[in-house]
Amino acid sequence: MVDNEAVSEFAPESALSLLLLGRDADPDSERGVECPGALPPASDPGLAQRAAAAKAALGDSVFILGHHYQRDEVIAFADVTGDSFKLAQQAAAHPEAKYVVFCGVHFMAESADILTSAEQSVILPDLAAGCSMADMANLSQVEQCWADLDSAGVAELTIPVTYMNSTAAIKAFTGRHGGTVCTSSNAERSLAWAFEHGQKVLFLPDQHLGRNTAVRELGMRLEDCVVYNPHRPQGGLSAKQLQDARMILWQGHCSVHGRFTADNVRAVRERIPGITVIVHPECRYEVVDLADVVGSTEKIIATIEAAPAGSSWAIGTELNLVKRLALAHPDKHITYLDASVCFCSTMNRIDLPHLTWTLESLLAGNEVNVISVDADTAHWAKIALDRMLALPGLVQASD
Ligand code: SF4
Repeated sequence: MVDNEAVSEFAPESALSLLLLGRDADPDSERGVECPGALPPASDPGLAQRAAAAKAALGDSVFILGHHYQRDEVIAFADVTGDSFKLAQQAAAHPEAKYVVFCGVHFMAESADILTSAEQSVILPDLAAGCSMADMANLSQVEQCWADLDSAGVAELTIPVTYMNSTAAIKAFTGRHGGTVCTSSNAERSLAWAFEHGQKVLFLPDQHLGRNTAVRELGMRLEDCVVYNPHRPQGGLSAKQLQDARMILWQGHCSVHGRFTADNVRAVRERIPGITVIVHPECRYEVVDLADVVGSTEKIIATIEAAPAGSSWAIGTELNLVKRLALAHPDKHITYLDASVCFCSTMNRIDLPHLTWTLESLLAGNEVNVISVDADTAHWAKIALDRMLALPGLVQASD
């Protein structure tokens, strides 16, 4: 039986308030720029037809990647959907595509550029689509942190591990200092590898994924983890705290997954007795601790697809994905973990007007919004990525 109350939470109108995001320049965004040329109005009823016509005319020269958190109007044009790592791999697997249009956020397009050939252009339909988590760790801050570790006498004992959701510059820093990249599903393996090569880990930029993995998967104590605040002298930590810690967590978080609280879990269990709570490991420790199932977006999707009809699920991840899962599985009771909705606002900057503008610009011979990582950064970032790929028994997934 369909839970009309639950499904109604995902009615299409719920997305309308975000349709205006990314329309023009955003002076508050670190990457905000106005698109050159005329961005078609969202009110144009022929937008979907225009995008379809441009895509058809471009043929195999264009390959469109759609992250799971993208809007339905964008996902409708994706040649493949997935998490960030799967999409970067897919881009590399289609060398015939001169243009890879990445409907996701900036760091994802950077990874795709690193993994694709020099003949391919990776394009982000709206350059204002950054990731608030990735932007919580910039290179100068991380270099200062490393200098602080050096002053405390622990830098040479420390292996940096950076989450896929980080800028190319941070991945390159990690590669230069003997570290690796990780995803949300291989973080345990990556951390185990790092502890085989050092005594401590500097985990960037998501403190929650780092803490959840260290404590829940590797059996550390919460006290083994300290949080380095880049806005305070020496991260707000004494030399002794840095020397005693095993996990030095960067003070970064996902603005979507970090919103979920332990009270959300308790409230949904009270509202819907017997419900199963599934959350992403970017959620806070206390949320993950109370949940029944923890996993990447790919794991969440697979779990819901395999769930029996009539089962009830509260999902703690981005709303576009939860909404699509609810609509795709009307035989299951699916609800959002939080009572108030939350999209990833930067993901939502990619919309049909920007996608249409991108495709029509390419058709007219204008390569717009190309994401290009400089050769030195790409070289070291790829070393960090390759270390991850060389880990045995990997299952890759990110957010
Ligand atoms: S959901 Fe979180 S980690 Fe993913 S792009 Fe949005 S802010 Fe970044």
